[in-house]
Amino acid sequence: MTETALPSFHVRTPLLESHPMSAALGARVLLKMEAFQPVGSFKIRGLGRACARAVADGAKRLVSSSGGNAGLAVAHAGRRLGVPVSVIVPRTTPEAMRAVIRAEGAEVTEHGASWDDAHARAGEVAGETDGALMHPFDDPIVWAGHAPLVEEMAEDLPSLVGAERPGAVVVSVGGGGLLVGILEGMHRVGWTSVPVIAVETDGAASYAASIAAGALVTLDAIESIATTLGARTVCAEALRWTERHPIESRLVSDRAAVDACERFAAEHRVLVEPSCGAALAAVHDPGESLAGRDPVIVIVCGGAGASPELLAGWRKRVGR
Ligand SMILES: *Cc1c(COP(=O)(O)O)cnc(C)c1O
Repeated sequence: MTETALPSFHVRTPLLESHPMSAALGARVLLKMEAFQPVGSFKIRGLGRACARAVADGAKRLVSSSGGNAGLAVAHAGRRLGVPVSVIVPRTTPEAMRAVIRAEGAEVTEHGASWDDAHARAGEVAGETDGALMHPFDDPIVWAGHAPLVEEMAEDLPSLVGAERPGAVVVSVGGGGLLVGILEGMHRVGWTSVPVIAVETDGAASYAASIAAGALVTLDAIESIATTLGARTVCAEALRWTERHPIESRLVSDRAAVDACERFAAEHRVLVEPSCGAALAAVHDPGESLAGRDPVIVIVCGGAGASPELLAGWRKRVGR
């Protein structure tokens, strides 16, 4: 099957101007609302594409090692493709997320203390069951599936703000799959000199560490509330892009990310994970990087692991 003939499971999301954030920044802030995807995050774009491809190529089962939004996206795509899904999650995966993944019809099995353990086991399960192992961020088809979100923005921008290109794009970085997809999309639409602000929380800063070292760095541990950004090593492609595109790494505190989640809920009536709050926080505290940039696009990556109870718990952990 050709790429265009593959089924897709995502929706075209709106690009909205945020009046409160624009007023605070002193420049127009536009929100790409990936929180409105069927599974609550952009993950369904790239993983939906990867799952459809794998099934078209004969996979009899889909296997994921993510107890987060990637696992949920695979579960959702598998249900819609009519194939069984196994999600192998580490002990740290919260029960609420396991329940959401199970509700999509997937089988959730616990293995090991960390994602690395679960990932190794998921590879074995795929081998034993004629299944396909879906990587959450390090796969060209996942990047290619994320990229069209930029094409949507390029279509919407002229009528929204009368500009052909933004002044900057702000995006959260976990393993770097979203970042790479966005960079691919930006080069497709000719935004080759528009700076990208790549945001991580202090305790999950594997991309910042790799940029500083000029080589891939593996963190010993993730110490952040933004567990969704907790890839100990980013994909090599994310580091390679620093040679081809202006990318600025930004770090924000867990507290700033949680503040931004609360503020986003109050101002826009949408709940997002701290992983997404991180990108929003980089606009609330713009520093030098956004000076003179207009309009600024923030990728509101979303996240299904957000609820009023969880938000209250994060607030407790970071303090006022
Ligand atoms: C996966 C995810 C991220 C990070 O994306 P990467 O491709 O791993 O960099 C950020 N926010 C949310 C809500 C996610 O689901």
